[in-house]
Amino acid sequence: MDLSGLSEVESKVLNQLQGVVDPELGSDIVDLGMVKAVQHHDNGHVVVTVALTTAGCPLRAQIQRDIRSKLTHIPEIDTVKIDWTELSQEEKSEVMARARLNISQEEAVTQIPRTAKSIMIASGKGGVGKSSVSANIASGLAERGFTVGVLDADIWGFSIPQMLGLTGRLEGDQATRRIKPIEKQAGSGILKIVSMGFLIDEDSSSLNWRGLILNRAVRHFLEDVEWGHLDYLIIDMPPGTGDVQMGLAKMLPRSDMIVVTTPSTTVQNVAARVANMARSYYLRIAGVIENMSYFINEQGEKYHIFGEGGGSKLAGELGVPLLGSIPIDENVSRGSDQGNPVILSEGQASQALNQIVDVIVADAVPLNKIDDCTAFIEQETAVDLNK
Ligand code: ADP
Repeated sequence: MDLSGLSEVESKVLNQLQGVVDPELGSDIVDLGMVKAVQHHDNGHVVVTVALTTAGCPLRAQIQRDIRSKLTHIPEIDTVKIDWTELSQEEKSEVMARARLNISQEEAVTQIPRTAKSIMIASGKGGVGKSSVSANIASGLAERGFTVGVLDADIWGFSIPQMLGLTGRLEGDQATRRIKPIEKQAGSGILKIVSMGFLIDEDSSSLNWRGLILNRAVRHFLEDVEWGHLDYLIIDMPPGTGDVQMGLAKMLPRSDMIVVTTPSTTVQNVAARVANMARSYYLRIAGVIENMSYFINEQGEKYHIFGEGGGSKLAGELGVPLLGSIPIDENVSRGSDQGNPVILSEGQASQALNQIVDVIVADAVPLNKIDDCTAFIEQETAVDLNK
């Protein structure tokens, strides 16, 4: 695209579009040369022309959503129209060459298969139920037959092993010199879990670890774990925005993020900061989950104990969907304490969590349907530059 003569607003649009990654090719649509034109009109209307590898590619819906969500941040823009075209054969070859080059130049080498969808579960503060949501979503996905990696990156407050009812030690594979995740069958699927909890003896000893070392530990989890095939990778992030979070955002630039908040305005404000950090690394925010939304007593009366509306307000602010609201339900904490995630049983919270998992699979973070797109260039295995 010819960049000369772009107005200030059009440059802002292009800048934001650099954060829209083609899920199939793994690079942003500007870098790949898929953005063909940006036109801003004085009445706040902007028209973006995007050329796709194949016009009928089902990933178009996701690209469209991402473009719209990125452009809501530009105050001068009121309405957005996206014109779709198709790349010519020659352009397609150039785009593929560019995507391959980008893959080969990627700095971080992770063992996460490139076809896996990684979802960071993040929150502004601790105690909002981020780990409970992570453990339940992972179990719900596995129950639906997916192979799900769980990376417990909440190094200080790791709770995933307890919530999934697991003990054990991570061991290395002599032949590959890689760490093997702890595996657990869930429904017809499988969970593959790594956590600090499988490495250290005393919960309290983790508290002495500091930023750099922690960041390195998380790097090991990405680089040296033999994940094998994964459909989804659920990452239980530490709360807030620190070294570990930024390290992960850099290493997993194609990750989606789901932000967990409670209905309280204070929590909602700090959650917005996490989302903004993610966006500064061009991560895609897939949606917001409101936890501890309300309590329903035995008489069926509903109480909004922590306030009302924080989740939908945050989602609106971020221009992303509210994926669901989870009630306060003692079965959540009991399930976590007993290592039986509530999503696999009955009750209000289980129902809400199951609906959220359905939304994730169907719409918010669907797996790439690679058969439908001719441009697919990824292999199941990661590109390892050290080999
Ligand atoms: P975080 O990871 O954000 O620090 P946790 O998932 O550890 O939060 O949850 C904090 C506590 O709240 C845990 O004891 C957990 O069992 C409980 N909890 C989380 N969500 C709910 C809920 N919807 N209803 C009841 N208890 C919950």
